[in-house]
Order: sequence, then structure tokens, then C-alpha cells
Amino acid sequence: MWQAEIRIDLDAIRDNVATLCAGTSAEVMAVVKADGYGHGMLPAARAALAGGATWLGVATLDEALTLRRAGLTSPMLAWLLGPGLPLHEGVEAEVDLNAGSLAQLDEVVAAARRVRRPARVHLKLDTGLSRGGSTPAEWPALVEAAAKAQADQDLEVVGIWSHFACSDAPGHETIDRQLAVFAEGLATAERYGVEPRYRHIANSAATLTRPDSHYDLVRPGVAIYGLSPLPGPPPAGLRPAMTARARVALTKRVPAGQGVSYGHAYHTARETTLALVPLGYGDGVPRHASNAGPVWLGGAVRHIAGRVCMDQFVLDCGDDPIAVGDVAVLFGAGDDGEPTATDWAEAIGTINYEIVTRFGGSRVPRIYDGSAGVPSPEETAE
Ligand SMILES: *Cc1c(COP(=O)(O)O)cnc(C)c1O
Repeated sequence: MWQAEIRIDLDAIRDNVATLCAGTSAEVMAVVKADGYGHGMLPAARAALAGGATWLGVATLDEALTLRRAGLTSPMLAWLLGPGLPLHEGVEAEVDLNAGSLAQLDEVVAAARRVRRPARVHLKLDTGLSRGGSTPAEWPALVEAAAKAQADQDLEVVGIWSHFACSDAPGHETIDRQLAVFAEGLATAERYGVEPRYRHIANSAATLTRPDSHYDLVRPGVAIYGLSPLPGPPPAGLRPAMTARARVALTKRVPAGQGVSYGHAYHTARETTLALVPLGYGDGVPRHASNAGPVWLGGAVRHIAGRVCMDQFVLDCGDDPIAVGDVAVLFGAGDDGEPTATDWAEAIGTINYEIVTRFGGSRVPRIYDGSAGVPSPEETAE
């Protein structure tokens, strides 16, 4: 019998991607960085491709090479490239590489020369996030250098791209401003003869709310896992794919006034039943959920009593007949009364992205439901 598990509904990921594909004429790059936001990078990638995504997006070169080694052949972009990486391995593996500065472009060119084949590059323009990418001031120089490298057959500019700062706040003034800067950047590139096949800027929020930002490719991440980046009720057609649950390991009756868990940050109001749930911050439960995290158990939502420990936390269940082995659901799709990752985020002051991503790589077994992310026989044959 399992003690604690993370269940991933791969068909939900496939169907979420299909929903997003149906809402755009652009191609869809499924973002599977950070272990697929905690869902498992490879199964999530396969499920997303089954749903109609034609591209995969990751942060690091390592993530991209892991996808390639697993046999995934779709176009893919890796965008967070520090200095000194073995970029030539990416070039050989046909991983598209981001370049957002002349120094990054130089590294890509050097990698391409080393393996004697053109690199596939996406030039990034910082339109206002002030994170990755070239400032508008440096952009003409970057585009000019890329045009020259393209003429020298050191690289092919496959994309020009950018990223939003505030698209999760629909109507935010920066959205239109960033789109205008992006359009200008594309026009500048065109003047240098750089007219790539893929122009892309939309993350999940913009994919859902700003069709005018879709261009040739959209890059949804959190939405493919069925979570909404937007305020308000979740958009139709998105279903949360992750469920985190555990079986009650122990119950006990305690009197009123009993201090519970480390620091006695909680005291029972009356004689009550406490239930011990074997999941803690070592598994991904935020310690900030102490006295706050909502958990479905015995037909009701309860809140964590006292501190979240490394391996466990306690629920105060009153006089409800909770038994050892009963299933406590931290979050799931929300259909049966259980909280969602979004409810957790609201309860503890973070975003649903962080809630699910924390469970990536944890010691809790991740169990996959559905058929969408199952490797094909060719992929499993080494
Ligand atoms: C993570 C990320 C995305 C996906 O963002 P969501 O808000 O999860 O849709 C898209 N593009 C870039 C550059 C990212 O870093």
C-alpha cells in the first residue's frame, strides 16, 4: 500500500495542449523546464507532443540534451545559457540556442565552427522584462552580427523572440508597450535581412488572453499542466494534471489546549482527533503552509495544524471519524472537493507554478495515469 504519492494525469496534459492548440493558429512550444514544472520532464513532453505541440521549450542546455537522449526529435529551444557551456553538443543535437547578446552569439558561432555545422539560433530582444535578451539599444548590433554569421553559414536565425513581464495582469499597460517594442525589433531585423520563420513572445497568460501576441509560435508552460496564470476562475478546457496525496499514518485523541508540532505554533481548541500526514517540506510541501495549507480529508477541507515538518504535518480533525490509512489530498484537479494548487498558492501567498514545481524530484513516487506520455517502443529501445 502506498504511503504518499504524486499522481500525474498525462491525458490531462495532452488535452490541455490540444485546448491551447485549438485556440491559436500559431504553433505551440510546450515548456517543460524544471522537470516539467514538477510533473516529470519526459512524460510531460511526450504528452504535450501527443496533444499537438510541435516544439519543446526548456531553460538549460542539459534539459534539452536530456530530451534528445530520450529520443525526442521535435524542434526545441534552450534559452538560459551561461558562459562556457558545451554549446557544440547542443548544435550537434539540433537544439535551438538563444542568443541575447554579442557575447552569447560569439559563443554560439564558436560552437558551430567547432562541429562544422550551422547553429540554429533565436535572437532575444528584451522588450521590457529586463531579464534575458538584448536591450533595444544593443539590438541593431546583435542583429547585424547575426546577419553576418548567417551569411558565413555559421548559424541560421530560426527565431526572434521576447518574454512578457505582466501578461498575467490582463490590460496591464506594459503588455501593449512590449508588443510595440517587439514589432519595432522585428522591423529592425528585417532591415538587416533577418526575417526568421518564428517570431514568438506569448507565454501561457498571453496565449490565453492576447491572440494578437501569438505570432508564429506560443510558449505556454503552466497552462499545459492545467493551471491558470490569470486571476479569476480557471479557463475552460484546462484540467490540473498533478495530485498530491498521502495516507494518514497515525491518529490520536488529545485534550483541549494541546500544543501541536514544532514550536507549538498551534493549540487545540477542544478535545479532538489529530491525524498525522506523511508529507513535509522534504517532499515539496512549503513550510510556509504551516497553520495555513488546505487539505481534503474525510469529506472536508482542513488546514494544517502547526508547523510543516521535514517529513510530516498534522491535521486537527475534531470529532470526525478519521482512520489510519485514510487518504488526505493536498491538491488535485478540484473535482471532488479537494483544493487545487491554485488554492494552495492563495493560502500561502505564492503562485501555483511554485506549488507544483516544488514536488519535482522529491522522494515521493510520481505515478503516471493515462496513455499520453508513455514512451513508444522505438524510444525505449536503447
Ligand atoms: C517559463 C517560461 C515560459 C512559460 O511561462 P508560463 O507562464 O508558464 O506559460 C515561456 N517563456 C519563457 C522564456 C519562460 O522562461
